[in-house]
Amino acid sequence: MSSSTFSLLFVVATTAAAFLSSSTPVSALPFNIPPLPIKNPWLSFMNLSGCHVGEHRAGLSNLKHYLNRFGYLSAAPNFTDSFDDALQAAIMTYQHNFGLNISGEIDDATLKKIVLPRCGVPDIINGTSSMTPLRGRGLFSYFPGNPTWPGSRSELRYAITSTSAVSIDISTLKAVFARAFARWSAVTTLNFTETESELDADITIGFYNGSHGDEEPFDGALGTLAHAFSPTDGRFHLDAAEAWVAEGDVTEASSDGAVDLESVAVHEIGHLLGLGHTSAPEAIMYPTLTTRTRKVELASDDVEGIQTLYGTNPNFEGMAPTMSNQEMNGGALGLMARSGVGQVVLRVLPAIAVGFLTLS
Ligand SMILES: [Zn+2]
Ligand SMILES: [Zn+2]
Repeated sequence: MSSSTFSLLFVVATTAAAFLSSSTPVSALPFNIPPLPIKNPWLSFMNLSGCHVGEHRAGLSNLKHYLNRFGYLSAAPNFTDSFDDALQAAIMTYQHNFGLNISGEIDDATLKKIVLPRCGVPDIINGTSSMTPLRGRGLFSYFPGNPTWPGSRSELRYAITSTSAVSIDISTLKAVFARAFARWSAVTTLNFTETESELDADITIGFYNGSHGDEEPFDGALGTLAHAFSPTDGRFHLDAAEAWVAEGDVTEASSDGAVDLESVAVHEIGHLLGLGHTSAPEAIMYPTLTTRTRKVELASDDVEGIQTLYGTNPNFEGMAPTMSNQEMNGGALGLMARSGVGQVVLRVLPAIAVGFLTLS
């Protein structure tokens, strides 16, 4: 691990520890709305500190559900509170993906990462798509089978279809999502236009509470923040229960649980276009987002990943991707031939979500 990576992880962990130790009430947008209580649904995992293989400790079954939810552990009829070999292997894969010391134990650095709010899309999909990079390219990843929007659909229309569950005014939402889409059109050949008609839209954006019809229920404030589906599904859902900050400086928000809407939007649009998660902490497609943090700039890892799929905007002045489309497609076909897997995230998510339903 490079020293800069280590430093960044340390900062993230320190920030996480700060918000975990606080019970300061939250203030949602705008800043003068009375604060509401907020509780991290994953905070109880901190009780598992120091746990290692062979131990039996209450709460390990919940951690297994979490690791199953994000693709690290296979589903089981009932998870027990025993720290078995499968859990150790899952912890080690998680530690590898997040650049942590691969101890196989539930150490404090691992716990501080696990309890951070994050994207609901799994890091490993059906055991094939993962944050583990192919040799000779960036850390970015794609969904199994590398689904993309076809070249004939480079002009994509999006509609903001469900906003009644949040109190953010529509003009503010329109501006946030327009800026988020513009980050991706600036580096690729894709263009995005807002449409008022859901029927006319390739991409639909909505805020929802709890269960909302796709077997991916939201979990209230913190925990999972949002999720989006791989091409060409087009659905992008946000957890209405978050303390979303859609305008103003999120770092100045009075709530420790404040989440920057534009930062999450830029990330989820990456999924809508075909990007999976990355191990590069500075990248937009990194799975976690620290509260009260704005992260909207595409990193070189994001740019390389998306340009490999869609080509480069002629006006983009950064570096071109190092791997050609032909190389990428050849690699993908090879992967599919070896694994026999062609499913996209849509067909995999419901199975992974089963464990999540029982997470308390
Ligand atoms: Zn994600
Ligand atoms: Zn959903």
